[in-house]
Amino acid sequence: MTSQSKPDPHSVPSHHGDLYGINNWGNDMLCVDGSGAVALRLPLEPDSTPTPLPQVMDAIETRGISAPVLLRVQQFLDQSLTQLHDAFNNAIRTAEYKGAYRGVFPIKVNQQAEVISHLMTAGQKYNYGLEAGSKPELVIALSQPLPEDALLICNGSKDEAFVRLAILSRKLGHNTVLVIETLDEFDIIRRVATELGIRPLLGIRVKLTERVTGKWQESSGDRSTFGLGAHDLVTLMGRLRDSGFLDCLVLQHSHLGSQVPDIIDLRRAAAEACRFFVELTAMGAPLTHMDLGGGLGVDYTGERRSEENSVNYTVTEYSTNIVETIRYALDEAGIPHPTIVTESGRFVVAHSSIFIFEVLGATLYDAPQKPEIKDDDYHLMTDLMAVENYISGPRFQEALNDAVYYRDELRALFRRGQIGLDQLSRAEQGFLYLAGLFKSALRQDPNLNEVAEPLAAFTDHYYGNFSLFQSLPDVWAIDQLHPIIPLQRLNEEPTRQAIFSDITCDSDGKIDKFVLADGAADALPVHDLKEGEPYHIGVFFVGAYQETLGDLHNLFGDANVVTISLDGHGGFDIEHETEADTIAEVLSYVEYDPRDCLDAFRKRVERALKAGRVNASERRQMITAYKDSLAGSTYFD
Ligand SMILES: *Cc1c(COP(=O)(O)O)cnc(C)c1O
Repeated sequence: MTSQSKPDPHSVPSHHGDLYGINNWGNDMLCVDGSGAVALRLPLEPDSTPTPLPQVMDAIETRGISAPVLLRVQQFLDQSLTQLHDAFNNAIRTAEYKGAYRGVFPIKVNQQAEVISHLMTAGQKYNYGLEAGSKPELVIALSQPLPEDALLICNGSKDEAFVRLAILSRKLGHNTVLVIETLDEFDIIRRVATELGIRPLLGIRVKLTERVTGKWQESSGDRSTFGLGAHDLVTLMGRLRDSGFLDCLVLQHSHLGSQVPDIIDLRRAAAEACRFFVELTAMGAPLTHMDLGGGLGVDYTGERRSEENSVNYTVTEYSTNIVETIRYALDEAGIPHPTIVTESGRFVVAHSSIFIFEVLGATLYDAPQKPEIKDDDYHLMTDLMAVENYISGPRFQEALNDAVYYRDELRALFRRGQIGLDQLSRAEQGFLYLAGLFKSALRQDPNLNEVAEPLAAFTDHYYGNFSLFQSLPDVWAIDQLHPIIPLQRLNEEPTRQAIFSDITCDSDGKIDKFVLADGAADALPVHDLKEGEPYHIGVFFVGAYQETLGDLHNLFGDANVVTISLDGHGGFDIEHETEADTIAEVLSYVEYDPRDCLDAFRKRVERALKAGRVNASERRQMITAYKDSLAGSTYFD
């Protein structure tokens, strides 16, 4: 599992970076520089100088912005957008497809104003549009400088106010498409459009019968909450025709779910969408757009496999498959090629953000020193320490079994009152000393992994200054894997295996699944912490879905957000900064008025002063401490 090499001061610096699989999942955006630091690269400019992340942390901490930080890299956002459009445009050219590609960004994937605004600016040249799945998202979309030819797709359940705003926006020249998700929704649309006297652009969401694999397997196909099945489609087509709205139906929509790992599923779904398209066209719908929704996945593990956190295709394959499938099906049916629309959210934003936290401390499950054995110690104590003699070599497993047995027997003696705390403490210490020897034997000989199962309980715990629930909700909720790597000292062999706990009081607040070069692992190779030297951990590709799903568990608020732009010479510029929530802000989210809190505290202190329990200077200290806390960070300073 871990590197087999002995510590070697002259080893190739990137060697230990390889251990984490950075070359598999790093997408040319990351590398390890000569000083052993993880550095950010301009993916489209291979000759530029990478920007080391520890230096970025240094520089922003000097400016008073400390970890935990969500770091956004503007060029990474641009790169994904470019990749997506280049892929489709190339596929269209190669296949001599007659229609165009129009991407829309699904706002729910990252609603942050700064992200949307950047995507709108960078997307002008692609006529990049937006997808709104709710009224608030529509309100956001209508505040954006959408290009004239861009689409504004409205999905999700809609009430009258949603429909009214969407239809009215047609008068501003927006290509707002109301995607009909249910039969009832059409009744609202018909009523409002008739009342306003505006012809809407309509879409229809079809429920595909093909199911997909991956995390969203259970809500695909028949189990999908959204979309119209064959019978409802036929009913709706009848109503559209009878009410004179059939000529408004320009778009067919389908959506499989997010992070679809297998290209075969995507291809089958596109083929089925074509079947509906052909049939609906034959029934008189003037369809011009085929919208295939989201699903374009991100290879979080770099394994290129059809697994939950990976994908077995590239964006190039994705676009080629879709374009060719549609061209083939529609040529066969003699129907002109429609504009192809995708609502790829995860792919566009996931890579752009890195979550960085600092390790505050560690509980180490080994001990450097052998405990002393006293004359009147139980013989089990001597037996325990004798295990050291046969750890390395063929008796590894026996040694491990014995150590656990003697330790447990000594614990039992303590419970029965036969040994005291002093001897128990030395027994525990002795066991940890042996655990350290077991772990280093394991590092020398990874073949021992098979029998080392009991050692998993002795994985070190590193404590990080972050809240999993606030900053990495999908890691907690759906076992999302992100690449995680120490940002520094990768020219030193990482000699420990750790899992990470956050600072919430919840035992679920931990990260214990990792991506390494040779697959998933239950612990991350890390270095010994050094006094007074920060040790930062980076969690990569967290730009999709994480920022607003997070919650205020234990009232830990939003982390700092810093957007940087790489200068190509090893440096960077800060483009934007959002300060972390203060305690006062977080309190107001749960309906406390921070001024009332301060007031109440002041009164208590005043009473204590009157009662002679605190003096005037203590009073001042207490009020100042309370005020500083209110204005300060929810995380450790
Ligand atoms: C969530 C969602 C998307 C985004 O999916 P990704 O897999 O992130 O690209 C697109 N369309 C609809 C209708 C969605 O609900």
